Formats: sequence, C-alpha cells, structure tokens
Amino acid sequence: MPRGSQMESKRRRGEAEEEEEEGYPWKKQTTTRTQRKKGDWSLKDFEIGKPLGKGKFGRVYLAREVQSKYIVALKVIFKKQIEKYGIGHQLRRELEIQSNLGHPNILRLFGWFHDEERIFLILEYAHRGELYKLLRRNNFLSETQSATYIASLANALAYCHQKHVIHRDIKPENLLLDHQGQLKIADFGWSVQSEKKRRTMCGTLDYLAPELVEQRTYDYAVDNWTLGILCYEFLYGVPPFEAESQADTFRRIKEIDLNFPPAPLVSAEAKDLITKLLVKESSQRLSLQKIMEHPWIVKNADPTGTCKN
Ligand code: AMP
Repeated sequence: MPRGSQMESKRRRGEAEEEEEEGYPWKKQTTTRTQRKKGDWSLKDFEIGKPLGKGKFGRVYLAREVQSKYIVALKVIFKKQIEKYGIGHQLRRELEIQSNLGHPNILRLFGWFHDEERIFLILEYAHRGELYKLLRRNNFLSETQSATYIASLANALAYCHQKHVIHRDIKPENLLLDHQGQLKIADFGWSVQSEKKRRTMCGTLDYLAPELVEQRTYDYAVDNWTLGILCYEFLYGVPPFEAESQADTFRRIKEIDLNFPPAPLVSAEAKDLITKLLVKESSQRLSLQKIMEHPWIVKNADPTGTCKN
C-alpha cells in the first residue's frame, strides 16, 4: 500500500501549495513533520475517541493528533477486507486522487499509514455527518438547502474536472457536512483521473447517467447528470427514476421518464434546472458554470455555502 503524508509531500512542492494549508493547525508542526521521513505517521500520533460510523470496509473514529491537538476522523480499514474484495487498486487510486485535491467542498485526506493488519486514513472531521441522514430525517430539503448544496457540488466538481478527475459516484451517502453545515464530498472510491473517454460501468444504480446504463463511452458530463438526480432527490426525497427492479430503473433512465409529483411543492425554476441536467445527450447538459449562474441557484443558494439545517 502507498505510504506517506500528503502534508509532507505538499511541503516539498513549495510555498504556493503550503498556503492551501492555512487554517489547519497541522501547519504548526511543519518543523517536526518535515524532519520526519515520508509515511512516518503511526497510531502513537493519535488519541482515539468515539466511533463515528461503520462503512463496508472498516470503522471511522474521532481522533486527536497528539502534538497539535487537531481533531480528525481516522478511518481504519482491515487489509484482509481489501484482499477479500479485491479493492487494493481502487483504494490506492482513491488515496492518490483525494490527497491531491484541496477545495472547501472536498473532504481533506491529510495522510495515511498502516500497520500489519490495518490501513489508517487521516481525514478532515465532518462534525454533522452524512447528508443522507439529514435527508432521511427531514424527508426532503428546503429550496435554500438544496440550492446551497447543489452550488457547492457544482463548485467542487468544476475544480475536480479542471484537474481531470471525474467523480462518478456522487450520492447523499458520499456527502458529509462539517460543523457549519458546509458540504464535503467524501468518497473518491469510484473516481478516475483521465482525459480520455471512459467505458467502465460504475456508480450507484439510481444515479447512473444514460451513457453509463447503455455502456457507451462517457466523460465529465456524467457528474452533471448526477447533480440533476441529486437536486431532484433533495427536493422530493427520492431519486427521480427509482423503481421496483433494476431493469425498470434502467428503462426509466434510458427513456428519461421524469415526473414531478404535486407534493412537496417545488418551484418552476428548480424544475427547470433539473430538466436541463437530466438530458440524454450528454453534451447538451447544462455546464457546471451555467448551473452556478442558473436563476434558481442565484436566488436560493446561500453565498457562504453553509446551512443551519
Ligand atoms: P465510510 O466507511 O466512509 O462509509 O464511513 C462510515 C461512517 O462514518 C459514515 O457513514 C459517517 O457517518 C462516518 N464518517 C466517515 N468519515 C467521516 C468524517 N470524515 N467525519 C465524520 N464522520 C465520518
């Protein structure tokens, strides 16, 4: 497995990137950390706190870096699980991609280390947890919340696309909220960094773009499609092409069988944005820039990107 601390490699790359670390108390330890060798983190550097959650491949704990007292989330993945599911390659790619991204709406991966049995990911702590849980609790979100999250996502995805990263698996389970309610894209397990057209089928059923369902080549526009799906799900509480069977979901996606139920009441501008994203021809979908300029976003999104919930 790859070893190393993102912080250290950033430092070696120069000052411009160091500035991105502003606001992170990790910076205080520059001297100590740069004197250490790459990949020198160990469990001894952290005090482990309460469990934050359990995923398919391991558990996540609240943790505090001993020297700086900085609070992080420590994700523990068992190597046996990685072998069992054959996800070594995927995890390596996830770590490489996520550790090179620095954006307010993308969860920071500060570094990673491993012991005999486990791999530990040092992650930014997202105090309010999964957006999925907020959605389940409230059934659906307000137009202000929805527009704020869609604007944050469009912003983060524009940054990713500019770095040639396609996320391919944006869904409420992969979105976390920090203490201010600011959205953080958390899971880069399916993302890919490439300028070529792609063919691998991936992502989660309800969020798949027609070109993925039809196993055609695809590009960045699969993420724009997903924003249309998410916008609908935030406002109505369910994704638009949900069906009893996988075959029916696929049929509905391919036919763009899109309906807007009478309740909850959703504005015509929101429906306009969704309709302009859920377009079969990928090149005709609204660009991320146009999403940010869309009247519904301009009118409803909180410019600070935070939500009280
Ligand atoms: P995962 O293995 O990434 O699916 O994470 C399992 C659970 O841990 C998630 O459902 C979250 O509730 C929680 N979690 C994961 N990462 C973080 C984080 N960085 N901050 C706070 N909670 C987290």
